[in-house]
Order: sequence, then C-alpha cells, then structure tokens
Amino acid sequence: MTGAVIKLPRGSKLLIATHNEGKLKEFKALFEPFGLELVSAGELGLPEPEETGVTFIENARLKAHAAAKASGIISMADDSGLCVEALDGKPGIHTARWAGPSRDFNVGMARVEEELNMVGANSPAKRKGSFNATLCLALPDGQDMIFAGTAEGTLVWPPVGDLGFGFDPTFMPDGFDITFGQMPAHEKHSWTPGKPGLSHRAKAFAQMVEACCDI
Ligand code: IMP
Repeated sequence: MTGAVIKLPRGSKLLIATHNEGKLKEFKALFEPFGLELVSAGELGLPEPEETGVTFIENARLKAHAAAKASGIISMADDSGLCVEALDGKPGIHTARWAGPSRDFNVGMARVEEELNMVGANSPAKRKGSFNATLCLALPDGQDMIFAGTAEGTLVWPPVGDLGFGFDPTFMPDGFDITFGQMPAHEKHSWTPGKPGLSHRAKAFAQMVEACCDI
C-alpha cells in the first residue's frame, strides 16, 4: 500500500531488512545522525525471502514487508543493482546472482566484463551503466513508502580499489576518475541536508530521511 506517511523520530526502532554486510555497514553510517535504534534481519535471524519480483520496487517491497510482518518492527529494505546499457540493462535485479552461489563479486565483475567484450563494448562511451537503489519502508500493518536513487557511470576493467563492496571496483561514477572501490565511504554515500551524496543508495536515502526522520 502506498500513500502512507511513516515517521521515524529519534529513539525509534528500525529493522534494516538485509543479510548483506556491505549494505548494512553503509546504512549504519547513513543513519548515524538520526538517533534511531537499528537492528538487522541478519542479527534477528530472520529468513532471507526469495526475491521473486521482476523490478527493484517489487523486490524491495517483498523484503521490507516480510521483515516487518515477521518482527512487528518498522522495516526498511533496499533492492539495488547494476544496469549496463550495452547489455540491455543487465544484470539489473539479478546483480547479486551474477556473483554466483558463493556471492564472489570477482566472479560477477568478470561476467559483466565478458559480456561487454562479447558485444564489442570496447570504449568508455559503450560501457555506460548505472547503479540503482530502491528503498521500501514498511509498517507491520502493510503500509509502505518507496524512494529511489540512481548513480550514472562507466564500467572499467580491471577492477580497481578495495573499499566499498560488491561491484564497486569496476564502477567509475560520472565526473570522477576513480572507482567507487577507491572512494572512502563518506565520499561514496555521504548525506548532508540539501546535498544528496553521490551513490544511488545515498540519493534514495536522502529522500527518505527528508520525509521521515528528525533532521
Ligand atoms: P540485492 O539488492 O540484495 O538484490 O543485491 C544487489 C547487488 O547489487 C549487491 O549484492 C551488489 O552486488 C550490487 N550492488 C548494489 N549496490 C551496490 C553498491 O553500492 N556497490 C557495489 N555493488 C552494489
């Protein structure tokens, strides 16, 4: 259900519906100024729901509502991924799956590179892509709010940098000559009022806190 207004005043409890340590670390840093009590689905031992949706929104909703229903706590889920223009938007909602069952992102990055080579994407202009993040904030009664953010950039090879997580070492955001993997956390996802930050997650997050948190 949309059209809801969900408020997260200081001191309120929020469940971050993820089992992904990289995402959790970014959200803990992002939420730091807002005085919430954060718990994660991983910490509570909640099962990871199957992502059966066909859009980022559907999957974000699925994860947030499953966590809110199971825990009785307001829950926020992120569904995110890398969309590569020359690959018709792939891997998109399947980004995590491209890293294989062991979630080895070197495998995922190599697969993107292999597919780019197969379509002859051999110049920066042919290697454009975006990271996309959709956040769903859900109440246990089924109401929710949705926020989305995008970061545009270029896929580089070989991967560079050991900061960040996932596909960060192959993604050079527009306007920069370093990858997300080379950026300190505060540069990738910083948020200050009126300045939404660089990453897809930071941009979606900025909209959410402006609507829901005590700033
Ligand atoms: P999901 O949202 O759990 O389906 O997973 C999305 C996948 O996209 C993650 O496991 C990462 O591999 C990738 N991803 C999403 N956001 C980022 C990011 O900020 N940096 C690098 N990889 C990301």
